Amino acid sequence: MPIVTLTNVTKAYPPADRGGEEVVAVDDVSLDIDKGDVFGIIGYSGAGKSTLVRLINALEPATSGEIVVDGVDVTRLPEKKLRAVRGGIGMIFQQFNLFSAKSVRANIAYPLKLAGWSRADTDARVAELLEFVGLSDKARAFPEQLSGGQKQRVGIARALATRPAILLADEATSALDPQTTHEVLALLRRVNEEQGVTIVVITHEMDVIQTLATRVAVMEKGRVVEQGDVFDVFSAP
Ligand code: ADP
Ligand code: ADP
Repeated sequence: MPIVTLTNVTKAYPPADRGGEEVVAVDDVSLDIDKGDVFGIIGYSGAGKSTLVRLINALEPATSGEIVVDGVDVTRLPEKKLRAVRGGIGMIFQQFNLFSAKSVRANIAYPLKLAGWSRADTDARVAELLEFVGLSDKARAFPEQLSGGQKQRVGIARALATRPAILLADEATSALDPQTTHEVLALLRRVNEEQGVTIVVITHEMDVIQTLATRVAVMEKGRVVEQGDVFDVFSAP
């Protein structure tokens, strides 16, 4: 069962200057991400991966084509209703994007506060998430007191707080050393297997795809040039 379906999706940006050419960041892309997948999107810098993520997250409108997320056609939805779609998608980032002036627990509580959760429910959920990512003893610490891997674990806890069905990881391990990358990938695997969250991993690193993903789309110059099972796409004929 697909949880994200893109059909002939194109995103073009207008020329930066008069007489310039428009940039087609995503060019006629069709893909299916099944519920429960760890779906990798791999490609070099400039291939259109981040644009694709912003389209799935409905942060930007597509120029043409159709995007259906969890049964909702986000290409035809008014802004007000898009908020609910975004609430069903968690995001983690290369630079973690934690609030430096907030404690670990306040970072994780933030989306729950926004969603209007009660203090008691928030406290219980934050405690559960801290336990899941193995940072119960860091609840009162601030991001600057954490290692890169610990920061990303906080990022993962925050992204999962409202129980989204989908987690988008945009170069989430690119700032980490190999050992820490491995730990974070192992945690993401648990998120997928134990919590049933569909994970979309955007990366330029082949290792990340081969360690974590079950299916993959290869992007070049805005187009998906290949997609399928990781094993089939990356094994020599
Ligand atoms: P990737 O994430 O694979 O590095 P991006 O999606 O960031 O690729 O970029 C794809 C192409 O679209 C690049 O040529 C980039 O310069 C262009 N692009 C991305 N965002 C914008 C924007 N907001 N305005 C104009 N061009 C953009
Ligand atoms: P800080 O943790 O930065 O001192 P607050 O105490 O105001 O900031 O809490 C910020 C958020 O963290 C609040 O939304 C609250 O729900 C949550 N929170 C506060 N105390 C706890 C706690 N003991 N356990 C879990 N979450 C907590």
